Amino acid sequence: MAQLTAGDVDAFRTSFTGTVLTSGDDGYDTARAVWNGAIDRSPALIARCSSADEVARAISFARENDLEIAVRGGGHNYAGYAVSEGGLMIDISPMNQVSVDPQARRAVAGGGATWEALDAAAQQHGLATPGGFISHTGIGGLTLGGGVGWLTKRAGLSCDNLVSAEVVTADSLTVRASADENSDLFWALRGGGGNFGVVTSFEFALHEVGPLVNLGLFFWGLDRGTEALRFSRDFLAKLPVDATGFLAVALSAPPAPFVPERYHFLPGHALLVVGLGSPEAHAAAVAPIREAMPPLFELVTPIPYVALQQMFNESAAWGTLAYEKALYLDELSDAAIAVIAEHAPKKASPESFCPTFLLSGAFLEKADDDNAFGGGRTGGLVFNISAAAHTPEDYEADRAWVRAFWEAMRPHARGTGGYVNFQSDVDEDRVRASYGPEKYARLAQAKAAWDPQNVFHLNANIRPA
Ligand SMILES: Cc1cc2nc3c(=O)[nH]c(=O)nc-3n(C[C@H](O)[C@H](O)[C@H](O)COP(=O)(O)OP(=O)(O)OC[C@H]3O[C@@H](n4cnc5c(N)ncnc54)[C@H](O)[C@@H]3O)c2cc1C
Repeated sequence: MAQLTAGDVDAFRTSFTGTVLTSGDDGYDTARAVWNGAIDRSPALIARCSSADEVARAISFARENDLEIAVRGGGHNYAGYAVSEGGLMIDISPMNQVSVDPQARRAVAGGGATWEALDAAAQQHGLATPGGFISHTGIGGLTLGGGVGWLTKRAGLSCDNLVSAEVVTADSLTVRASADENSDLFWALRGGGGNFGVVTSFEFALHEVGPLVNLGLFFWGLDRGTEALRFSRDFLAKLPVDATGFLAVALSAPPAPFVPERYHFLPGHALLVVGLGSPEAHAAAVAPIREAMPPLFELVTPIPYVALQQMFNESAAWGTLAYEKALYLDELSDAAIAVIAEHAPKKASPESFCPTFLLSGAFLEKADDDNAFGGGRTGGLVFNISAAAHTPEDYEADRAWVRAFWEAMRPHARGTGGYVNFQSDVDEDRVRASYGPEKYARLAQAKAAWDPQNVFHLNANIRPA
């Protein structure tokens, strides 16, 4: 990377209409921080962009001056790809506007918007598109890598619902990608991550959801962990179409008002069931749980969809020291549950746990080659082992916990890759394995067409063919 002179920086400040921050400027330290508190990198420059033209100018400046580019959407990538040491951080978080056309059932969101903004705007019309479980996450990285959440069973992944995108390319050109415009780019964007350009605007299809949905949360201690996970597996397989589920494996009971104090921080497993139909249908769906597998505590309540999306926000606060490794499971087999029983009690931090996502329903209706998502369309689960700590000691201990747990789960996993959005350590072999040879080859062709110099490489990187 080249050394920038004060004159280079001044010239950029003059030619760039957005905000430029260098170390020492007010706001620089806040702007360079990403969600994962374990990442501490200092870019030479931060270019805060509010338009595609500003993004184009920032890319040109970086390329003219041989600066490594990092694109910062919501800043939630565990590996910290939104910030590069000594490079140029293109911060598109100011591009956070969302507009909704309720008749057409479409939302258009700026490339740096969060799910919070998109959910709130769409829910004003009783509409939503599948997002993640934590609404301060960016729509950018999450959608480009796939996007699993509460609505995956109803409507597929976030990327399955992308209708079009505005993209600033490595050559600083602004192009549109959709099914009938630059369709190779459109295919690659939906699952291939930030490899192909900076997406300055996302257009999503919307679906009728809520505004009230129904939550059911049931918790068991580790002493009945194996039984609880086997029960939850069988229960989730029989859920009605308008209900979906999520497993919080190795979760410590939160100190929340609905949790009796004696259980605060008790390690165990939680089964969450969300009903998108009537409260009565939901009550009937979850009733058998109490009889078959009485929980230590539960919470069954109607909840606004936006509140459901924010329910875990505080438990995943900015600055958390975080590390994760994930794999795909065809099923939660008894053998996999035995591995969980061995490793769940060994975590150090109460906030470390294994978010376990179901891939079912509408997710399975998409053809696998319809877009670049790497998880296949055979269903199963995304099993994510996530360390989340607030002291360096807990962080070190739980990073080791994640690695040992993940190694032990590998024999039960499908393939050797994993969901690209849940990878703290990314290497080329794992990225290739995450997509499989055919998809990787097609992605590499798209990369060669749209970013042959690999300008956008701070991501689960695809090598240009
Ligand atoms: C607390 C937490 C909860 C999560 N929950 C879920 C979940 O429920 N479901 C799920 O699927 N994933 C989830 N994730 C993972 C999430 O999908 C990834 O961390 C994702 O990378 C976050 O996107 P971002 O825009 O916030 O991150 P960033 O760090 O800003 O970006 C991530 C990557 O995408 C690129 N990028 C971002 N925006 C753009 C853009 N507009 N154009 C081009 N490239 C872009 C960046 O350059 C970087 O390579 C969660 C992550 C965290 C930290």
